[in-house]
Amino acid sequence: MEVNLFFRISFFALWALFGVVRGYYGRKTKTHSTIGGVMEKLKTAIAEEDMGTGFKIITAIITAIGSAGLVLYLYSPPWWTWTIIPLGEWIQWLGIVTALVPIFFIIWVHRHLDKQWSIALELRKDHKLIITGPYAYVRHPMYLGIFIYTMGLMMISLDVLVILFFAFTIWVNYRRIPREEQMLIQEFGDEYLDYIERSGRLLPKLRHD
Ligand code: SAH
Repeated sequence: MEVNLFFRISFFALWALFGVVRGYYGRKTKTHSTIGGVMEKLKTAIAEEDMGTGFKIITAIITAIGSAGLVLYLYSPPWWTWTIIPLGEWIQWLGIVTALVPIFFIIWVHRHLDKQWSIALELRKDHKLIITGPYAYVRHPMYLGIFIYTMGLMMISLDVLVILFFAFTIWVNYRRIPREEQMLIQEFGDEYLDYIERSGRLLPKLRHD
């Protein structure tokens, strides 16, 4: 098989695998059990982004360019080559590992976060504060896993447009963290403040006690 084709299939397979994992936990935790449900949650998530008109326009442009880039990358017409970064194939191999490993990590995170999970920032009925498993070390293991997974896909594609789009999604998700923590502080008060003392945001805190 042609190497380029192999990497494109791997990219797509890893993307699909992630989708299957999310779909499975969406059903299991009933946060969203249908495609319509996912769209509803996504709408809420977008609505809660406090973004100005400028940011909305940039988001729309990058999303349009990124979607076109993704289609072009996966379809890979022979006349479209200028967005491909000519770097070693080893980066793409490393990308496969970088995208695959976090999927297993994310499964572990899902099992701990269980039904407190949501695509939007919200508190579910009888919401419990989770501080076990991966949450014992970092407060946002799911975002961490998704960021690393996304970087893996960027490395597999080595495509400027795909990288631009995914880097943007990482940044948008990163911006949510302070708002999410604010929401949890409001709900759990000192319990969450103590938790902040003990844990790292995305990377474990080095112990100095
Ligand atoms: N930021 C977390 C969770 C992402 S899912 C992570 O990256 O692992 C987003 C939802 O998780 C939010 O709606 C919030 O209510 C919930 N959440 C985040 N941290 C939590 C925690 N420690 N315990 C319980 N729920 C949490």
